[in-house]
Amino acid sequence: MKAILCNGHESIVIGDIEESKPKKHEIIVEPLYGSICGSDIAIAQFHGKSYPGVQPSKEKPVILGHEWSGMSGDQLVSSGCNMPCLAQTIYPPCPNCSIGRDDQCFNRGRIGFEFPGAFREKMPFPAVQVYEVPDGLSTKDASQTEPASVSISAVSMLGEVDGEKDVLIYGAGAIGLYALQYAKVMGANSIFAIDIADFRLDLAKKLGADRVINPKKEDPVQVILDETDGRGVGVALECTGYPPAFNQALKVTARMGTVVIVSIYGGELKIEQPFKDMTDRGLIIKNARLSPGNAVRKAISCLADKSIKSVITHEFKMEEAKKAFEVAANPAENNSIKVVIKIGQ
Ligand SMILES: [Zn+2]
Ligand SMILES: [Zn+2]
Repeated sequence: MKAILCNGHESIVIGDIEESKPKKHEIIVEPLYGSICGSDIAIAQFHGKSYPGVQPSKEKPVILGHEWSGMSGDQLVSSGCNMPCLAQTIYPPCPNCSIGRDDQCFNRGRIGFEFPGAFREKMPFPAVQVYEVPDGLSTKDASQTEPASVSISAVSMLGEVDGEKDVLIYGAGAIGLYALQYAKVMGANSIFAIDIADFRLDLAKKLGADRVINPKKEDPVQVILDETDGRGVGVALECTGYPPAFNQALKVTARMGTVVIVSIYGGELKIEQPFKDMTDRGLIIKNARLSPGNAVRKAISCLADKSIKSVITHEFKMEEAKKAFEVAANPAENNSIKVVIKIGQ
């Protein structure tokens, strides 16, 4: 059986691996589309990146992938990437799983990270983590369930976006663009989107951003403060992983506002804003990581009813996996946002 493996620095290969047998609580799923995430690119160490805790090597290659759609029998299915207590048959579930916050499970494990990933022709998958995809959502777009679910929980559960709030989306990659669309669903007042690439800002505009800002041309802090009468936004979603963006987000978030970090900072994150100022303004900082089961279900329904449109820009065959990763890792040269790989036939 074929799988997309990473066996070290920028090394993406198609390997022939043995089929794993399903355990009692698992079913066999046949992935049809795999979608490349920024964390896959970090695990594969493109551009000197790395991912904490996941070290692929020739001796221990990693089966990549946590964004996927596939078949369970003749039913199209998808999932998030988290394997919380119930998916691991840990009973009773941990306190966080018990309150529906399985994104922060104490026994968390993720496919494509600690557990083998989805970029393979067949995989055993916990039955409780398999979500049915309704008619009307294509196999390809269903692969966007996981990233859309991360954005949905960041916007609603963590950001608590509503009609009163102005929202900042910092970074108009896939996560940012899905967050933008869900902020729209939640009735956000005014939405600002910041990105250094005009092609991504054009799409942000089409998908509902009220004001787009390219920091190469305008000062985002000045623009946002000017256009919110000096108050700043109620919710800022930092989706770049670039520390200066986080610092700017702190500056433009209003009193009692929330900054949600929906990205991973490779290096050290230095907070430049004086702490006293942040406490004085009652700022709330939250971290989005994975997504709870209810956000996965919501992602599937929003992708199906097109209130969240997929932002896939490139599709490759399984044999072209290396090229797919190169295109995903170099978005500026390729105008790429989301890159998917067709795995099944
Ligand atoms: Zn992802
Ligand atoms: Zn748990």
